[in-house]
Amino acid sequence: MKKAVKFKAYLVALITCIIGFQFSPASNQFYANPFYIGGFIFAIVLIVNVINYFCPKCKKNQVMQSATSYRLPTNKCYHCGEEIN
Ligand SMILES: [Zn+2]
Repeated sequence: MKKAVKFKAYLVALITCIIGFQFSPASNQFYANPFYIGGFIFAIVLIVNVINYFCPKCKKNQVMQSATSYRLPTNKCYHCGEEIN
């Protein structure tokens, strides 16, 4: 699977978990909620993906352009057009 597709799949999974968690019945054991656990795992996976998502040619991060500017990655580098897999 392409890296950009995988990244978006993780993002969708994380959003699904967050929404699922909002709609789950409130309980004292929220940490045992599968949506909570899933959200936690996907959040970590996404952060790791963001940090490691560099163009092999120009070394630009494909997700985080600056501390306040983010973008969804594509199969090509937004900066130099290099194919990223
Ligand atoms: Zn590049």
